[in-house]
Amino acid sequence: NEVGEISLKDIYQIAKTSFPLCMRHLFEKVREDHHLKHGGRMQLGLFLKGVGLKLDDALAFWKAEFAPKVSAERFDKEYAYNIRHNYGREGKRTDYTPYSCQKIISSTPGVGDHHGCPYRHFSEENLRAALVRMGVSSRAVEDVMDKVRNRHYQLACTLTFEAVHGSSCDAGINHPNQYFIDSQRIMQS
Ligand code: SF4
Repeated sequence: NEVGEISLKDIYQIAKTSFPLCMRHLFEKVREDHHLKHGGRMQLGLFLKGVGLKLDDALAFWKAEFAPKVSAERFDKEYAYNIRHNYGREGKRTDYTPYSCQKIISSTPGVGDHHGCPYRHFSEENLRAALVRMGVSSRAVEDVMDKVRNRHYQLACTLTFEAVHGSSCDAGINHPNQYFIDSQRIMQS
């Protein structure tokens, strides 16, 4: 992709600066809980692939994050296959594409799931708290909440992008990996 490869050691820093809220949330959750349910592993795993994390680094990332709860043996047996599958190395060898905003917004996370779009699926209270933690000013938070109330989730995400980067995003956000690429472009310029 346009951004190129991302190494495992850089991913933690980059997650803070350039991941959209949906992926920041999953990334924080896997680091906190040392686990993620299937929907979350798919949403974050394919995003990370799109960001440029190579298969070996992806396996190392998930294995290390799951390690406090999942033994290396169990990881290799129960989780590694799916990760290789996402990279097209198992089964039908399809190279799966990262999910678009539309797909994520229309998903239906259940209890204990952390995937989905926070603008759509978080409570108002949790969303406000998450935005403040991203460094969004209180005025911008109100603008974002206004979009959320009108069910313009991608516009809410676009306003967040603009608030966090201090830069406009005229095209709007329609894919988490586009958010990432646009963010990196600003960070590196
Ligand atoms: Fe993620 Fe898209 Fe929702 Fe933004 S609008 S949080 S990129 S799903």
